[in-house]
Amino acid sequence: MPVVLRLLLENALRNMRGPERDAAVGALFQWLETGTSESEIAFQPGRVLMHDTTSTPALVDIAAMRDALAEADVDPARLNPVLPVDVSVDHSLAVEAYARPDAAQQNIGHEIRRNRERYRFLRWASQALQRVRISPPGTGIMHTINLEQLATVVRVEPSDGQAWAVPDMMIGTDSHTPMINGIGVLGWGVGGLEAQTVMFGMPTMLRIPDVVGVELTGILPPGVLATDLALTVTQRLRGIGVSGEFVEFFGPGVSTLTAGERAVVANMAPEYGATTGYFPVDEHTLTYLRQTGRGRDAIELVRAYMQRTGLWFDPEARPRYTRTIHIDLDDVGMHVAGPRRPQDLLSYGDIACSLRKAAFQPAQPHAELPRYPVAIAAITSCTNTSDPGLLMAAALVARHARARGLTVPHWVKTSLGPGSPAAASYLRRAGLIEDLSAVGFDIVGYGCTTCIGNSGPLPDVIAREARAGNIHPVAMLSGNRNFPGRIHPDLELGFLMSPPLVVAYALAGNAELDLATDPVALASDGTPVYLHELWPTRQEIRTCLDLGLQAGDFQRDFLMALRNPLWDELDAPSSPLFPWDPASTILRRPPFASVDAGSLLGHYIAHPLLVVGDDITTDHISPASAIPADSLVADFLVARGDDRDDLNVFASRRGNWEVMMRAAFHSKTLINLLRPGMPVAHTVHASSGDVAPIWAVAQRYRDAGESVVLVAGERYGTGSSRDWAAKGQRLLGIRAVLALSFERIHRSNLIGMGILPLRLPPDMGPSALQLQPGDRIEIGAPAPTLQPRGDVPVCIHRKDGRVQRSTGRAAVETKLETELLECGGVIPAILRKTLAAEQGKRLAQA
Ligand code: SF4
Repeated sequence: MPVVLRLLLENALRNMRGPERDAAVGALFQWLETGTSESEIAFQPGRVLMHDTTSTPALVDIAAMRDALAEADVDPARLNPVLPVDVSVDHSLAVEAYARPDAAQQNIGHEIRRNRERYRFLRWASQALQRVRISPPGTGIMHTINLEQLATVVRVEPSDGQAWAVPDMMIGTDSHTPMINGIGVLGWGVGGLEAQTVMFGMPTMLRIPDVVGVELTGILPPGVLATDLALTVTQRLRGIGVSGEFVEFFGPGVSTLTAGERAVVANMAPEYGATTGYFPVDEHTLTYLRQTGRGRDAIELVRAYMQRTGLWFDPEARPRYTRTIHIDLDDVGMHVAGPRRPQDLLSYGDIACSLRKAAFQPAQPHAELPRYPVAIAAITSCTNTSDPGLLMAAALVARHARARGLTVPHWVKTSLGPGSPAAASYLRRAGLIEDLSAVGFDIVGYGCTTCIGNSGPLPDVIAREARAGNIHPVAMLSGNRNFPGRIHPDLELGFLMSPPLVVAYALAGNAELDLATDPVALASDGTPVYLHELWPTRQEIRTCLDLGLQAGDFQRDFLMALRNPLWDELDAPSSPLFPWDPASTILRRPPFASVDAGSLLGHYIAHPLLVVGDDITTDHISPASAIPADSLVADFLVARGDDRDDLNVFASRRGNWEVMMRAAFHSKTLINLLRPGMPVAHTVHASSGDVAPIWAVAQRYRDAGESVVLVAGERYGTGSSRDWAAKGQRLLGIRAVLALSFERIHRSNLIGMGILPLRLPPDMGPSALQLQPGDRIEIGAPAPTLQPRGDVPVCIHRKDGRVQRSTGRAAVETKLETELLECGGVIPAILRKTLAAEQGKRLAQA
């Protein structure tokens, strides 16, 4: 049995009871016959991980639920998570200051000033709610904190008066949660709404997953890094159409990878379409635990538990998988991915070729800037900054470049945003901080920065010349996503690559250079310097790791960062109910946190509010990046007293439903196929033909008592696990999303908000349907008839009277999900459960 299924089996044995448990165990063993299963099992993780932008809306919902309970005459303090919830404040750090030694200090100051009100709210939550812990700004990126501080791999819990060792299993409200799979902790990303379900004691239900085994053999060639392997795995697994399966790595090649390298590969599970990218525990895992300062007893417990329960990695084992692929590590080369999708793998020498395909012609070539200047060069993301080996490699390129007198051209915005404050300690001890600084890679802070799109303003010359059409700027980053607009709203092209290659491209300044053959730059003596001259050897990296790494750094630096005086100075209320400020443009009590939210199921005829194509990301649906100063959202905020020049990012407004409703589909690159060419976030009102903001059109339909749905192509909701992508659609009144396929987490979030995800047959995609304003869609999905994966009649009524009948399939996987849809979503379900418990208690007392 794959190790991931052994872990699910353990979870079912421990948490389920009676016939349900027997059925789950039977189904898991049945899986071994066929490698697949239609059966559902309950999964009860031991903890929940969140970040500031997913936790803020979840905690706002809890604050609003407490209000609703108080209004129903129930003690609001009764509503608390039942599991530990760890929140990292990492997603709001922006790169304002860079290439200066005090950049980190400056940026954290900006961050706390800009987010003061939201952070006060988070502090309220940590004081008013039991079991909620907050890691303040500066403590690092959530997944790195999870690797270095939170994960125990095996934890001890009391049960029936005894101490039991059990596997550490968790969920997180972020799609890169599977990074923790790199050290043998089973965990994956869920939507904020699913996390709320789990937090309040309901299990998450899942179909026993198909498991893809990735057999690794061989050893990575010299110069090839974990990033290259992660990008290769992404391309190979996307190539076989992985979509939501669990992935597990096996074979002798696994033993050649360090736990840090495995974590890089595990992190990119959402990019390769998987729920997990699991590496079982072995000696390398224990070495990692030792290197990051875990105690000897805790490490020995991991060894003993894993070996005795048969969960310890065996490189010779060949478990039964649903399907397998083989990757020979010897064949992995130096890669990048881009310029628009992480699965588009290229050899690093092919960047220039891929750019030439875009055939960009400058309006007026700039005297100094190349056609495709490197505008952003960012060593960023939990993916590629958590493994000290990758940071050492980047710093060694900087050292070699410094020695040859190379500098970074003035138009390149450089940044280094590690996931852990310990990075500064080990880089400094290895003597590499000055080398990085010499080529502009000063530490800009410990948070998501460029990876989440908080790249800050572009250098003036880049912004100006791009606006004039004279250049096509490019981002080079060690992140994991490069969808157009993700890195920066004005950047359409981005390449993902290893941190040392980011440094090399920063020095080159020109994305069109082929670094496989062209010199990176000229040395101070005028001689050309080639990439192979800068690239570190494996031995150099090893020497720096030996010199720099000290186990004591990880805990000490984290504890020091926890004592952030700017955070401690925020004066936060401690009352059980949050005191909403009616004038706030940051935090508003959301209307959907109500017992009576109502189900959206039914038999109805709806207008398509929007029709969109393939690969619509949650960034398209609910942007996280900077709020454009010339947008309608900006007008709305300025009318309420905000400063047009300091509106912050959309992600910082997720506590304000009025803003987020207006922000829905606010994306320059989103095309509304109902009438292409409309202004950003606009649509057509069917009966009047008016083109207006989407939220205003939605309001007109609602006022007229008319239903709306959304139609999309393949992979709707790909990208970040953003519950606001679903909440925004609920606020627009969308009752169902009809798509050719859905990304896993967004599908679950839609259900969490009571919206029916409906799979269209392949011949009914948006391009086949060619829907026009005035066409309407009839959907037959009343609550009593809705079944997991059941048929749903869909009928297109054309404006000219033609009718086209078909059948969709409910993208609903479990009975629990149908129940949530009947309730109107997760929040009404939690409220009803709490009220029922209270009524039961009162009845018993009476
Ligand atoms: S993937 Fe990027 S945005 Fe997500 S947690 Fe990691 S650094 Fe932050």
